[in-house]
Amino acid sequence: MRFSRFLSGSSYDLAIDLGTVNTVVYLRNRGIVLNEPSVVALETLNGVSRVRAIGAEAKLMLGKTPDNVSTIRPMRDGVIADIDVAEQMIKYFIGKAGGGSRKFGRGPEIAISIPSSATQVERRAIQQATSNAGARKVYLIEESMAAAIGAGLRVIDPLGAMVVDIGGGTTEVAILSLRGLAYSASVRVGGDRMDEAIASGIRRKHNLMIGEVTAERIKVEIGTAQMPPDGVGAVMRVRGRDLVKGMPAEVEVSQGEIAQFLSDLVAQIVEATLSALEKAEPELASDIYDQGIVMTGGGSLLADLDEVLSKATGLPVVVADNALMCVANGAGRALEDSEYRGVMADV
Ligand code: ADP
Ligand code: MG
Repeated sequence: MRFSRFLSGSSYDLAIDLGTVNTVVYLRNRGIVLNEPSVVALETLNGVSRVRAIGAEAKLMLGKTPDNVSTIRPMRDGVIADIDVAEQMIKYFIGKAGGGSRKFGRGPEIAISIPSSATQVERRAIQQATSNAGARKVYLIEESMAAAIGAGLRVIDPLGAMVVDIGGGTTEVAILSLRGLAYSASVRVGGDRMDEAIASGIRRKHNLMIGEVTAERIKVEIGTAQMPPDGVGAVMRVRGRDLVKGMPAEVEVSQGEIAQFLSDLVAQIVEATLSALEKAEPELASDIYDQGIVMTGGGSLLADLDEVLSKATGLPVVVADNALMCVANGAGRALEDSEYRGVMADV
């Protein structure tokens, strides 16, 4: 790689993947320097709210807060749900990633990813919040594009590539070629809805109330997109509150049950992927036929989802290495390497 391909810029420039669940920050020429939950804890005293904790520290408080403290996820619905809190969160992460704002001087250039489904108003809000947080210049990059670059796909070639990015709030399906999105669609299905489906399934079937942290742990440990051959698979002990007795209780939950709770959501992800393939231009479709589909995002780590998607489409499906980091790595690459500069929108 020749040095001249890299743009001048300060070594404090950042690429940010502002996800609904995790924020990942990439520092120019350094790589990923921060990866924390997109969570903010607010404390209210005498009617006035102030930020009590952000990121990993705030996540620890999730579901365990006293009455005057509330934890919120400002990006909950795929885009910014609470702009003021989101801005404070972005500012905090920028400072933390750069080791303190004083060092920035003129302020960094920041590339920030946005879901393809974001409206113009939402794009502007994210741009403004990043700018207010201290950026000298803000570039917006489509999340699917960043994910593809981060997964190592050659999006600057005239070759069709398909990416399915499953995050906390949404699944983004995209077909890319020559630095652009030839097709993109977003469905509001992701890790959050999987957690909710698990919690509500266990409530219905076992009369047990569990929190979102527990639901997520069940998903990661024994969750699967496919019914185990014996219908049961691995089992796990789960604690919560018995709805009838109102007391703490423990039940045993099986992989087969979880597969059932998740089946509807898995079907929606498959549906969105099939629908993208049906709409792809013939030339691109033939490239995808050769290359297959790449999955990124935390949701793509759900056990057997790659296999289910491969069976449904008849195409090879791979989960990208470092699936949770692809968007930040790709946005960082776009910031560093002029070959990719064209994939970012200048605002
Ligand atoms: P976002 O971009 O919306 O912040 P991420 O790509 O960071 O989302 O993915 C976060 C989601 O991935 C969460 O819902 C998390 O529970 C889920 N996740 C992480 N690891 C796994 C795993 N091993 N199995 C299933 N889901 C996972
Ligand atoms: Mg994401």
